Amino acid sequence: MNESSPKNDNRKFGFETRMIHAGHIPDAVTGSRAVPIYQTTSYVFDSADYAAQLFDLKQYGNIYTRISNPTTAVLEERIASLEGATGALAVSSGMAAQFVALMTLLSPGDEIVASRHLYGGTVTQLTHTLQKLSISVKFVEPGDISAWEAAISYKTKALFGETIGNPRGSILDISKIADLARSKRIPLIIDSTFATPYLCRPIEFGANIVVHSATKFLGGHGSSIGGMIVDSGDFNFSHYPTIAAPSPSYHGLRFYDTFGHYGFLMKCRAETVRDVGSCISPTNAFLILQGVETLSLRMDRHVNNALAVAKFLKGRPEVEWVAYAGLPDHPDYALAQKYLPKGPGAVFSFGLRNDKGQARENGKKLIEALQIFSHLANVGDVRSLVIHPASTTHQQLSDEELTAAGVGPELIRLSIGLENVEDLIWDLEQGFFAVSR
Ligand SMILES: *Cc1c(COP(=O)(O)O)cnc(C)c1O
Repeated sequence: MNESSPKNDNRKFGFETRMIHAGHIPDAVTGSRAVPIYQTTSYVFDSADYAAQLFDLKQYGNIYTRISNPTTAVLEERIASLEGATGALAVSSGMAAQFVALMTLLSPGDEIVASRHLYGGTVTQLTHTLQKLSISVKFVEPGDISAWEAAISYKTKALFGETIGNPRGSILDISKIADLARSKRIPLIIDSTFATPYLCRPIEFGANIVVHSATKFLGGHGSSIGGMIVDSGDFNFSHYPTIAAPSPSYHGLRFYDTFGHYGFLMKCRAETVRDVGSCISPTNAFLILQGVETLSLRMDRHVNNALAVAKFLKGRPEVEWVAYAGLPDHPDYALAQKYLPKGPGAVFSFGLRNDKGQARENGKKLIEALQIFSHLANVGDVRSLVIHPASTTHQQLSDEELTAAGVGPELIRLSIGLENVEDLIWDLEQGFFAVSR
């Protein structure tokens, strides 16, 4: 075909087009334009032979929704396309995504080296739940590459970090850690929940596996829990025991030999999710797809609103510090420009002045006075959200313990939604007024 022809079959579609179309063609039988919800547990086999082939992984096809589902498959292909990945697997939650990825990769006695700046639930999963399986974790300062290197031993089988870290909005230097991971032949897993593939695609910077809590910005509406495991397909698992070795539960099948670039994801699906049971419901996969279709529009607005609110807070006398990597005085501003040029997300924290040790009390007052911001433990919703760890999730800790945990009594976390930004600023203003009374 003529290269200048508009009908060039090699056209690489843009992000926004793939957000709406990737992984789906209209239903051949009904013509349904929207992705249908295949609300079924199981699928009829064409023949006994075909069924046997399916169970032996010799044929692709659906058996049971715990393992695969056509609605969920659209979500998987769409996210894989947006991340520039080989494939993806949707699961029941963000926690399940990490757990399934790590359960598939690791064996008892293995170690993980992880950034210290992680989602709280991830810290407990890595520290306590994986410990029951004799898997241990070493946490390092994410910006200290020599600390990552020093923490790696012959037992290290995964490196783990977040694109945008908790709670101070630190930005991971993904390329540097990916170089280290490659030189040590260890896969690098990045939790990119706060960024979404619109703001950052970690695979382009050398990450091997990306995980998401789809509960947050991917779904975006605060209605459905889900998670994604995304595989670049470029890690060489040929000497990596769990993916390369024969699988006893499939008559000695070798996942990496048999499925190549898809070996890791096939094993996640056909073994770990099959046996752990952490599948997503087709309806939740559908609801998350509704969010993905408007991802770029929402993320642009989230980021613009977040920057405006961060600048407003910066100018307030009640505020001691604002940790948003979109502000030039944030220590990771330059990294944010490199990895997230469209903006470093919409979740950040700020600190109230702690005059006379009043921060804990003032944080509580501020939150109670807010009218638009919802006080709850989530992020990445169309609605603006706020939480004050010192009076909620961490209330049993003393001021000193809070500070040691990196969430001092003055810290307030915001997730900026899509409301009119002047209304958000008005809400915070009237909140500060209530504190000063
Ligand atoms: C919410 C979240 C998770 C956990 O996801 P769930 O869907 O709530 O299980 C993991 N990592 C990050 C960064 C998150 O924000």
